[in-house]
Amino acid sequence: ASGVELLRDPRFNKGLAFTEDERDHHYLRGLLPPVHMSQELQVQRIMHNIRQCEDPLDKYVALMELQERNERLFYKVLVDHVTELLPVVYTPTVGEACQKYGIIFRRPHGLYISLKDRGRVLDVLKNWPETSVQVIVVTDGERILGLGDLGLQGMGIPVGKLALYTALGGIRPSACLPITIDVGTNNEELMNDPMYLGLRQKRVTGQAYDDLIEEFMTSVKQAYGEKVLVQFEDFANHNAFRLLAKYASTHLTFNDDIQGTAAVALAGVVAALPLTGGTLADHKFLFNGAGEAGTGIAEIIALEVSKQGKITLDEARKKIWMVDSKGLIVKSRFESLAQFKKDYAHEHKECKDLLEATKALKPSVLIGTSGQRGTFTKEVLEAVASFNKRPIILALSNPTSKSECTAQEAYTHTEGRGIFASGSPFDPVEYKGKTFTPGQSNNAYIFPGVGLGCIISGAIRVHDDMFLAASVALGKILTKEQLDQGMLYPPLENIRDISAHIAASVAEKAYTLGLATRLPQPADLLEYAYSCMYSPAYRSYR
Ligand code: NAP
Ligand code: MN
Repeated sequence: ASGVELLRDPRFNKGLAFTEDERDHHYLRGLLPPVHMSQELQVQRIMHNIRQCEDPLDKYVALMELQERNERLFYKVLVDHVTELLPVVYTPTVGEACQKYGIIFRRPHGLYISLKDRGRVLDVLKNWPETSVQVIVVTDGERILGLGDLGLQGMGIPVGKLALYTALGGIRPSACLPITIDVGTNNEELMNDPMYLGLRQKRVTGQAYDDLIEEFMTSVKQAYGEKVLVQFEDFANHNAFRLLAKYASTHLTFNDDIQGTAAVALAGVVAALPLTGGTLADHKFLFNGAGEAGTGIAEIIALEVSKQGKITLDEARKKIWMVDSKGLIVKSRFESLAQFKKDYAHEHKECKDLLEATKALKPSVLIGTSGQRGTFTKEVLEAVASFNKRPIILALSNPTSKSECTAQEAYTHTEGRGIFASGSPFDPVEYKGKTFTPGQSNNAYIFPGVGLGCIISGAIRVHDDMFLAASVALGKILTKEQLDQGMLYPPLENIRDISAHIAASVAEKAYTLGLATRLPQPADLLEYAYSCMYSPAYRSYR
């Protein structure tokens, strides 16, 4: 390629890092200032510029522009500064980026499939320049983070998640495809916004919706084969469970809001077991919030308990109780309950709220997935602390402003005995001379490794046991020292190693289940996982 083409193509551009030799051979002389700059120094320069931005959204835009200009440098920056940049490329800043997508829009990212493409979705996929796609993240924008219906502007989510697949899980960028399916929006404000980039119509539902999704799922396999992973992201409840149930047996697919969230949460509980003593089956769980996240977590816990205790899934579910917006889910409410809640409607008197349910049930694990700030009140926390030496408290609602309680509250109202993690990060807390470092139950621990595990084994389906394997692998990574500081999740700095370990466990499970097609099975799956991971270091063009 000619020099100028190398500079303009983000996949090849190295900016000032082109060597003297490369400049000679690729007609780059004079197109760059004469100095040579190492990739490490370029990373420092980028980080300097990003830290200058006061508004997180400016940081986000700067990173997106880097991705459009110099892909390897973008990933190098992300890999080297995961902890600092995760909140920018992903939640919470990505949420704001989605809300303002029309305004900050510069270049298109990924594929936009809309109702207009009905009947020719395969042709749309063929317009995508890469042919060996391995991971698709798709949204229909109806429930973006906790922000509701953002229509087409939800595209920031698949773009952000796939950046993490590459940075944290080592999937090649060219194998990643972000997709937004635009079926309209019910967000009046967006529809009236002249900068809105999606279809200006109410969401279609029913058959028309299902037909477009069905055409999409069929076309995806035609374009990329049986082993393309399709991750569903930020679909509303009424579609999320249904679509997962429909496609899990025909496609390599999962829903991160349901299964990914579940696996990270379970890993946190597993990690806490050495502190509480006993096994998972010895615990009693009470959830505040019975939506995608809550019921997803409940199901994976029940699955693991049933396996460990050699009891049926239904018996295991009896250890798990859920409160929704109407109070404790009990048998007497059965008829009026959404399908996905029915399995948790156990025999009990009605309890109007979480406090009443906590006092009646005496749970040892409290899990918040309600999206309601402050629902783990002082009274609720004091109650769990009164029944348990070491209560486990997971306040998973995002963002920070929605957390069921703060880290400070969790430690204070349990006299420092609570084992706490949250969905959004909290700073370490001092309580009675001891420093507690709360863990962050972040899906980014799990999905990149699961994706890598599927790819390296050539898996054709995602079995629940593969998520279980991922979860258990994550739960066992913590050291004794980290646990003693209150951490339930390892530091994100080591996330590429964590992803490799998770990938190896997931792949091993895929082989055991007969779902792997990459044969023969590599002798050392961990080593193999590492060897498959994309490195953002520059390549030489000589
Ligand atoms: P969702 O499907 O809308 O579910 C919310 C649930 O909370 C529903 O069951 C709802 O009850 C219930 N609820 C609402 N107000 C309540 C109240 N005052 N008391 C008790 N329950 C109440 O949402 P989701 O996708 O599960 O997400 C829930 C939260 O989890 C969000 O804040 C999200 O950020 C967080 N989350 C965290 C992670 C993570 O930490 N890794 C991952 C995913 C999601 P009804 O069913 O009666 O409406
Ligand atoms: Mn999500």
